[in-house]
Amino acid sequence: MNQTVENILQNKYINKDDIQFLLSLDKEGSERLFRRGHEIKTTLAGRKVFFRGLIEYSNICTKNCFYCGIRMDNNRYKRYTMSDEEVLETAKYAHDNNFASIVIQSGEQSSKAFSKSIENLLREIHTKTKGELHITLSLGEQTEETYKQWYNAGAHRYLLRIEVSNPALYAKLHPGDKRHTYNARLEALSLLRKTGYQVGTGVMIGLPFQTVSDLADDLCFFRDFDIDMVGMGPYIEHEDTPFWAYRDLIPSAADRVDLSIKMVAILRIIMPDINIAATTAMQTLDPRGRELAIYAGANVIMPNLTPVKYRDNYLLYENKPNVKDQPDETRKALEKHILAEGDEIGYGEWGDSRHFKNRNGKIIRKS
Ligand code: SAM
Ligand code: SF4
Repeated sequence: MNQTVENILQNKYINKDDIQFLLSLDKEGSERLFRRGHEIKTTLAGRKVFFRGLIEYSNICTKNCFYCGIRMDNNRYKRYTMSDEEVLETAKYAHDNNFASIVIQSGEQSSKAFSKSIENLLREIHTKTKGELHITLSLGEQTEETYKQWYNAGAHRYLLRIEVSNPALYAKLHPGDKRHTYNARLEALSLLRKTGYQVGTGVMIGLPFQTVSDLADDLCFFRDFDIDMVGMGPYIEHEDTPFWAYRDLIPSAADRVDLSIKMVAILRIIMPDINIAATTAMQTLDPRGRELAIYAGANVIMPNLTPVKYRDNYLLYENKPNVKDQPDETRKALEKHILAEGDEIGYGEWGDSRHFKNRNGKIIRKS
């Protein structure tokens, strides 16, 4: 039988070959794929989009990933760490505005002082918001002890992108030392699962040397790992990184956005009950990128709440949008766009991964 979108979508199990076919669809085929992602999302979960207020806590990083603007060896940025008061104030903004959930993200640091500061912040936020604000961490690879310390202090979701699921490509993207191994990344994901977190991962799309077969493997990886949440988006070049040298090898911005939306739609089809983020990188390459991702299957958005004075120093890639926007402006603009598309915002709802709930039989609450 000839492969068509409809034939593939009728299958109970969509295999890697099918995924590659879907990733290579032309405009008309893509529209059918996006419509199917949309139908599955709306049938299962309605048209709700959940906000996670993003706090870019510190740009100090002890790693040197070849693609990332805040890598340790880039001395263009002034290094900062937000004060406890600033974090608490930002968390309060999220709570007061009914976000129900925040993400604390940072460059990777592994000192005892760092883990203690995060623990203290988690406890303070928990007390100040009466356990109503749920906290996701995105603080890189840590020891099992640290993951437990933060979990016991009130964090219950963790985002750690595998970046690429192909170990050979992973090795090309990172320095070849002990601090940057694919196996350590994988082990960290397993430790997070073991600790009890709702585990999120993700990949960059349109990297130099990456193939459509790699991207199909990435989607199979999410399914095989039985992941609860995914945040993925286009790779965007940054001139102060070693990968700038390969900028001629990457697909056009339009193709990276198209691939990213296809990845979202296929993932929604093969893992209907997970949380999928419409990422800022999609919006960076296309002003409508996030809305397209939401249409095709994404159900989470992370509005940036980082105090504006720090934003210029947390530039992972070129042309990051809204760096001057105050949280209120960002929130109102997102609200307008989401409502205009016919979706609603899950204000006051944690929006936990239903996949996690279905696997564990309940949501673990911290209060
Ligand atoms: N340091 C933590 C880590 O690496 O997991 C969390 C912060 S890190 C800045 C968050 C994510 O930014 C990474 O997982 C990576 O996928 C993404 N990122 C970094 N550089 C990027 C780039 N040039 N284009 C797109 N995404 C990028
Ligand atoms: Fe550091 Fe994360 Fe950037 Fe790698 S991706 S350099 S760990 S902030």
